Order: sequence, then C-alpha cells, then structure tokens
Amino acid sequence: ATPVGLLTGTGRAAQLGILIKGPQVLEDTRTVDTIVLDKTGTVTEGKLSVLDVIALAQVSDADVLRFAGSVESYSEHPIAQAIVEYARAQSALPSAEDFSSSPGGGVRARIEGHTVLAGRAAWLEENDVEISAPDHAALLAQQQRGTTAIWVAIDGRAAGLIALRDTIKAGSGSAIANLKEMGLRPILLTGDNASVAAEVAAAVGIDPADVFADVLPEGKVEAVRKLQAEGATVAMAGDGVNDAPALAQADLGIAMGSGTDVAIEAADLTVMGNDLGQVVTAIALARKTLGTIK
Ligand code: ADP
Ligand code: MG
Repeated sequence: ATPVGLLTGTGRAAQLGILIKGPQVLEDTRTVDTIVLDKTGTVTEGKLSVLDVIALAQVSDADVLRFAGSVESYSEHPIAQAIVEYARAQSALPSAEDFSSSPGGGVRARIEGHTVLAGRAAWLEENDVEISAPDHAALLAQQQRGTTAIWVAIDGRAAGLIALRDTIKAGSGSAIANLKEMGLRPILLTGDNASVAAEVAAAVGIDPADVFADVLPEGKVEAVRKLQAEGATVAMAGDGVNDAPALAQADLGIAMGSGTDVAIEAADLTVMGNDLGQVVTAIALARKTLGTIK
C-alpha cells in the first residue's frame, strides 16, 4: 500500500506545478545526490537570437541565411527556430526536399537543386564537408565571443556560419545555489561547444570540472551511466529529444514543461513552469513528505 504521506506529497506537488508519475517518484527524488543539467532550454531559455551571419565562400550573406532558414524550417530545435525567424524577416524562404536531421549534429535537405547542410563543424566534417584552416579560425573567433556557431554547407563546401546567443533563465543561478546547499552536485551537460558551456557554468555557479561539452546525444546517456557506476544517484533535467534516453536512464528524470513530448514521456517528473526553482521545490518536498512518514 502507498503511504498516505506520499499521496499527499504528490497532490501538493501538482498544486506547485510539478507533475509526478506515481508516488514512487518522491521516494527516488529524496535520495538523489547528483543533478545533471542540460544546458539549452533547461539552464538557459533555449530562445536563441542570431547575432551575425558570415559568408565564407563565394556566396552572399543573404544566400547563406536563405538556405539555412529553409532547411531549418523543418527542424524543432531552438537553434532552428531562431534561424528561421531571423531569415524570414529578411526574405521569403524557398521550400526544401528530402529533409533529414541528425540530433546533436545538424540538418540536411535539397534546396533549389543544391544539397544544404547546417550544423556543428564536426558533423559537417563527418559528412565530407572540408573546412579550411582560415574557416576554422573564423569559427574559433566566434566561439571566443561565447556564441554558438552553426555552419552552413552548400554542395559539400563550407559556405558560411551563423552565430547565435542564448540567455540564462533568471532563476537558474539561485536554483543551482539551493541545490548545492541541499548537498547535490550540479553537472552541466551539453552538445554545445566548450566555451559557451564554460561561460554558462561560470554564470550559474557550476564547477568548471563538472562541465561536459560537445556531448553527442548517445553521450548524454553514457555520462549518466558513468556517474551511476561511480556510485552517484543521479537526477537529470532536460527538455530535448536528445535528452530523452538520458532522462530514462537517470534515477530521476526531470522534464521541462516546455520541452518536447519525447522528453516529458521519458521523465518521472515534469516542472510545468520550466523553472529550475521547481526542481528545488520537488526535492525539498520529497524530503519533507518522506520525513514525516517516519
Ligand atoms: P544541447 O545539449 O545544448 O541541448 P543539442 O544536443 O540539441 O544541444 O545540439 C548540439 C549541437 O548540435 C548544437 O549546438 C548544434 O551545433 C547542433 N545542432 C543540433 N540540432 C541542430 C539544428 N537543427 N540545426 C543546426 N545545428 C544543430
Ligand atoms: Mg536542451
């Protein structure tokens, strides 16, 4: 039988905008000692804005943006939404065919007879796009500004890059401070580049040694497994399709309410307000509820 305290805890959580899949979840919540946080959409707003469009080859800025906007209009990623919004404001976008997406890598389609790829540099290179040394230098200069740079390739050639910036959610820093006070170790996990990750970690008070950047979607599950193998009881908070396997693997999976359906399904608990402060509330509530049963 389920202790009455647990049921009451579940109801109280619902009032606070925290949806829990069954009373057992509170029990698991109580014992976590490590919290893995996805960056984009979890610690940050996940609402990016385009700062710059830089054409590299014999292509105009306008074409780089038009092709990128077209291929990204078939993707749900926050990066895609930002590029599409920015591109649409400049010009009408051509339609694309044969769209495909590689989570944690990028997107591809045929547009006006050309093959267009948009994504991270390493993913483009895996797909036989050559990126020259000067082009890499342009990328590094962007990353040093703390931006996420998305490369665009047209017919196998690097054509340009789009620099974007996200903002940290207002409540993230204080929520992470609270988590630490409660004895939890926060870890930042992201597919984004190391310099962006380090900047976000520093702003919210996560130890530089606890930042895992450039992590592919498969790598997110691996990171959770590795922490568990080291003896940690792991909560993972995320919002993306790419976070779902790690949310399922974690001892406690937490989805952001604004997250993808896949993430919400994989999670044990969903915070409707998208606020890490609610994660603090959930853990505090679990500890209090279970404390009163004893
Ligand atoms: P995060 O872990 O921060 O939520 P993701 O794993 O979703 O990030 O993405 C990692 C990286 O993969 C992004 O920073 C970007 O470089 C690339 N990427 C993913 N999806 C797309 C897309 N739709 N368009 C362009 N690049 C993408
Ligand atoms: Mg995310």
